[in-house]
Amino acid sequence: MLTNEIRALAESWEQMAIDIRHMLHRIPELQYNEFKTSGYICSVLDTLSIPYKKGYGGGTGIVAEICGTGDGKCVALRADIDALPICEETNLPYKSEHEGLMHGCGHDAHMAIALYTAFILNELRDSFKGSVKFLFQPAEEGDGGAEIMIEEGVLENPSVDICIGGHVMSEYETGTIVYKNGSLMSSPDNFEVVIKGTGGHGAYPERCVNPIVVASEVISSLTSLTDTNVPRVVSVCTVEGGSCPNVIPSTVKLTGTARTFTRQSRDEVERLIEERVREVTDKYLCGYNYKYIPLYPALINDDEVTERFCESAAKIVGEEMIVPTHQVSMAGDDFSYFAAAVPSTYVHIGCRSGETDEIIPIHNPKFTVDDACLSVAAMCYSQFIVDYLTRE
Ligand SMILES: [Zn+2]
Ligand SMILES: [Zn+2]
Repeated sequence: MLTNEIRALAESWEQMAIDIRHMLHRIPELQYNEFKTSGYICSVLDTLSIPYKKGYGGGTGIVAEICGTGDGKCVALRADIDALPICEETNLPYKSEHEGLMHGCGHDAHMAIALYTAFILNELRDSFKGSVKFLFQPAEEGDGGAEIMIEEGVLENPSVDICIGGHVMSEYETGTIVYKNGSLMSSPDNFEVVIKGTGGHGAYPERCVNPIVVASEVISSLTSLTDTNVPRVVSVCTVEGGSCPNVIPSTVKLTGTARTFTRQSRDEVERLIEERVREVTDKYLCGYNYKYIPLYPALINDDEVTERFCESAAKIVGEEMIVPTHQVSMAGDDFSYFAAAVPSTYVHIGCRSGETDEIIPIHNPKFTVDDACLSVAAMCYSQFIVDYLTRE
């Protein structure tokens, strides 16, 4: 339904969407500081008279809404808007103008795709009931802006029935949509361990309990908690201790990340880390402090929403380009808060040009996005939203 109209509208808005992405790519900003980005999104929405409210999620979040004719369901499309502290190493004419910052995770593409979808659906609003909310969310990289926006009520008035989101992925060629039922991304929690030894002169280790020695055993023990069968990953990522080559320090601090998929394995890893730390520190007769810092829940896709999304997307790209994956990702995404609140699906959008086989992954200073993926994603989102809001 309306597939030809969506294709025609996508063609007419494509150049504008590409220009928007390039503009956003020039001005990457870190989480909660996305002020220029947010201002730019508002100015684009203004030119098309699409209504929105701003100031969410610490100030930079925006919720735009397009209403169809008459009562119906509400679909939310989420786009994350923050960038990374990476020094861009591409030769793009629209390279980052903010020293040391880069849209290295493709969130510039996510924003452009959401705006592009808004352009298309704004023109089709007489054809569907209910409404579409566009959630421009700050602070995906680390802090969980999604949770704040939900607390601020973005899923209410009107209440959101389902939510969709996606991520550009250079592992897949442009035109491909990769989906997965059920568990998709892990719960990426952090932990902190302080090992309390007894410091002293480096010449007399027998008078000390060297926490660096204890830490080395703790690190091996924690690392061995990684188990692909669970699946579970435990990585120690920082070690801090000592400042002088002949002084044994009295403490060492370790921090790391623990990634799991279920409530049960999340609780289990929290307990196992402490057990391992206690075992080793008991052996050396030293103390410890332990803090487990829960971040996002795991991202679990709703099977029915995922299936319906794939059916709609197939009308755009053809069934052969809708590819299932059985692989869970140990990365995390705070879209998981939306997915925990309402039935949702989060898909991967191929963004590697067919002209290259070289895969430069997200978070790499040379990462690039093939502009052709914008129209693929915007058409798939538009088709799904129209199908969902006309079928109910
Ligand atoms: Zn990222
Ligand atoms: Zn990302």
